[in-house]
Amino acid sequence: VVAFTRVEAATQGLVRHPWSFAAALVVVVGACRVPVAGSLERFEYERPAMGTLFRVLLYAPDRTRADAAAEAAFGRVADLDAELSDFDSQSELSRLSALSSLHAPTEPVRVGEDLWRVLAAAQAWSEHTDGAFDVTVGPFVRLWRQARTAGELPDAERIEAARRSVGWRFVELDPAARTVRLLARDMRLDLGGIAKGDALDEALATLRAHGVERALVIGGGDMASSGPPPGRAGWRVEIEALGNERPEPASLELAHAALATSGDTYRHLDLDGVRYSHIVDPRTGIGLTEPIQVSVLATGSRYGPGSGASGATADAMATAISVMGVERGLELASRLGVEARIVVLEHGQPRARTTPGFARRYVER
Ligand code: AMP
Ligand code: MG
Repeated sequence: VVAFTRVEAATQGLVRHPWSFAAALVVVVGACRVPVAGSLERFEYERPAMGTLFRVLLYAPDRTRADAAAEAAFGRVADLDAELSDFDSQSELSRLSALSSLHAPTEPVRVGEDLWRVLAAAQAWSEHTDGAFDVTVGPFVRLWRQARTAGELPDAERIEAARRSVGWRFVELDPAARTVRLLARDMRLDLGGIAKGDALDEALATLRAHGVERALVIGGGDMASSGPPPGRAGWRVEIEALGNERPEPASLELAHAALATSGDTYRHLDLDGVRYSHIVDPRTGIGLTEPIQVSVLATGSRYGPGSGASGATADAMATAISVMGVERGLELASRLGVEARIVVLEHGQPRARTTPGFARRYVER
């Protein structure tokens, strides 16, 4: 009755280091079948998107309706991927960035609804986090990707050069006209810290439009849910143990909520005994070197105007708190009414710190 699926491990060729944080590993525990009013059945789907595996778990009256809803949800995610990817030079995002290499500042550019929604949320998060969350870090991220290929650190000069194109205040939004201006030269926007969460929100909205009210959508290590499985309080999910320890609580029930986890097992660079994360501190331009795993639970969209729905919120905040660290991170979560669990190494051992509300059950309507 209980099905374990190690999503990332199965798809990413995960290599485990003795102290590595299994952040992206989230186990979904299958619900027991229970007799249900109106007899809904459980269906599961998966498809690669956004450089990871997306999964949809849903309840529907029959396979035809379930298939149609899941297909539409995956279609929505694929569209977002095509618009928001920084890997694809033809995405709307990349084409916007490229304009800043022709003229800086750019003309105001009218962007589509999706790019607008995600950029507006990203800017709100930059403001809330005092710039720890910053989607203009693309030039730094590119240096780190190159460093990973080359096997050597980017030199200080190149980091300095990249820095001239990084800064969230270089993105100017005009809500009335829905236009974006990029103010610095050679900017590269990177929505890797928020787009997956937004895609989860949009997938749930698409499912809802197809009459599916009870669903869990998973993208890599992030997930968002609408209603719970019939007869249950929530979807039971697990954040996998770190090292040999299992700081509590690792098991949660989610409904009408999102859970995102940042911190890696596979997207990092090891050089001269130092591990650099793919998450960059916008102030230094350097990948984080302190191992940290951050999980954020969020519900609804009550975290300030433009901050996005719960998936986008959880995703952005998990990335931001990774940069901010334990104390500032917990403080931010409390201030915004979001739950967080932060794991760092103390004397080589993982130790979890949480906001008081990071409870076993996290179910909200
Ligand atoms: P996540 O896995 O959600 O924590 O997102 C990490 C990704 O976000 C990285 O791979 C980059 O694409 C991007 N990123 C890196 N550093 C930052 C930052 N300081 N703020 C926003 N996005 C970032
Ligand atoms: Mg994130």
